[in-house]
Amino acid sequence: MIRPQPPTDHGSMPNLRWSFSNSYNRVSASGCARQTSIRELPAATTMAGVQMQLDPYAIREMHWHKEAEWAYMLKGRARITVVDQNLCTFQDDVGVGEGWYFPSGIPHSIQGLEEGCEFLLVFDSPDFDENQTFLLTDWLIHTPKEVLSKNFNVELNAFDKLPTEELYIFKGTMPPPLSKDHIIGLGEVPEPLSHRMLKMKPMEMEFGNVRIMDSRNFPASKTIAAALVEVKPGGMRELHWHPTEDEWQYYIEGEARMTVFASGGIAQTFDYKAGDVGAVPKTMPHYIENTGKSTLRFLEMFRSNKFEDVPLAQWLAFTPHELVRAHLNVDESLLANIPPRKMPIVGKH
Ligand code: MN
Ligand code: MN
Repeated sequence: MIRPQPPTDHGSMPNLRWSFSNSYNRVSASGCARQTSIRELPAATTMAGVQMQLDPYAIREMHWHKEAEWAYMLKGRARITVVDQNLCTFQDDVGVGEGWYFPSGIPHSIQGLEEGCEFLLVFDSPDFDENQTFLLTDWLIHTPKEVLSKNFNVELNAFDKLPTEELYIFKGTMPPPLSKDHIIGLGEVPEPLSHRMLKMKPMEMEFGNVRIMDSRNFPASKTIAAALVEVKPGGMRELHWHPTEDEWQYYIEGEARMTVFASGGIAQTFDYKAGDVGAVPKTMPHYIENTGKSTLRFLEMFRSNKFEDVPLAQWLAFTPHELVRAHLNVDESLLANIPPRKMPIVGKH
């Protein structure tokens, strides 16, 4: 059903919606990946994302990249493995609603566990390219055999069985159970690189709940802040804006409608569904309404160490009321009834 855009829309602005289903899907024998970067969604100028699927025990090859990587598991479970610049190691198994943060330039790999997995990756740069990461095999294939033999002080033929092409995503076998005994580096990384976002106690409201995760409760995540938002049917992520950072959204489930106001009288409304990406330039106010019959769940992502927003309601409530009334001609009771704290999810019976 086509839902007309509200008559309050005016003018036009850059497109603020992209669906991962429109992205090229790179399929390999044991998984697939597709991305939404500034190339697909030019309005998203600070971050990019990748949806990846791994078959049971499939391995996303050992690699690194200049961007930091934040992840949220959508289905199944995976094992992550990291060695950092101080030769400290980190390994963990993550399930649905959990994920990780890999700092820029630090090598890592991801292996699907018994049921395989599907996850969202978010990068702190808009032009991240999943096909341009530094792959272990790609590097060694393009290094002279003499150099490899010198580096490891072995005979030339030690590298005779190197793959001839990069592996990227390839078939693996069941890894041993996770155990501290497998930490073979000089110790564990100083800050855990995995998170359990869905297990965090949410801020509960009548029409939904919010979990905010940034460097204050996930210290490793120095460049990415996230909010996991659940909105019940009829509920709405309130009118607000973000003072310092662009917002990059990923819709996990349900249906949503967002209007973004761009100043100068320009406002445009976009509809979203599961698998879509939304973009909101910093300082532009917006709301996100659950327009479906089921729970709406989405991620708000920011290239920042800290989540920040300014709500319309408390902005008005904490401004002298006669000043606000002079602008809006509203009753004092409207202002007096605004709660004295942020209520990110609102609704009306
Ligand atoms: Mn990566
Ligand atoms: Mn927002």
